[in-house]
Amino acid sequence: MVLPMPYQCTLSSGQHIYLDNPGNQTVITVASHGAGQQQQSSSSLSTGPWTTVPQVAQFRGGALVRCVTAQGIFTFQVQGMQVSAATDAVNWQAAQPLTVQSVDAVPGSTMAPMTPMAPMTPMAPMEPMAPMKPLQMGHMQMSTNPMAMRMGDMEMRMGSASAPAAQARQFCTQCGAAVTSEDRFCGHCGHKLND
Ligand SMILES: [Zn+2]
Repeated sequence: MVLPMPYQCTLSSGQHIYLDNPGNQTVITVASHGAGQQQQSSSSLSTGPWTTVPQVAQFRGGALVRCVTAQGIFTFQVQGMQVSAATDAVNWQAAQPLTVQSVDAVPGSTMAPMTPMAPMTPMAPMEPMAPMKPLQMGHMQMSTNPMAMRMGDMEMRMGSASAPAAQARQFCTQCGAAVTSEDRFCGHCGHKLND
């Protein structure tokens, strides 16, 4: 059975207990976070490989750790930073079970040597930005070149010299032909247009 090791458990005192099982050893690491400093101590005990997930229980301000291996059941007592084999007097059933979760690694433990980093490949030159496609949401439409926005019958444009905002559609008062506000005379009938 392959267990996802190591395991971690947090005691009510704020201490963390890490449990690992390399080879035939049960490694119990107790870590406590003091004011700005971290204390950590590990105890390695020969138990054989675990056959199931170890259990941790709150016990008298410390904790009990129980590991089941092919060799039997091992119970350890954690008190402060000390780890010792629990005496027969320890009643596992009376202890308060704690949640044990698998973690990636025991902090501060000897890590396998890192594989050397592959040399960085230079970044590919950035592709020029493609013009933004007009964004359309229901009856609302936006595009960026020129900045324009259309909502229903309303249209707003910015940043374009050819924006026809000044050329709002007007009509000759005389003949009704389409003219622009820039026209001084109607192109159709020559009527003088007043502004
Ligand atoms: Zn006219």
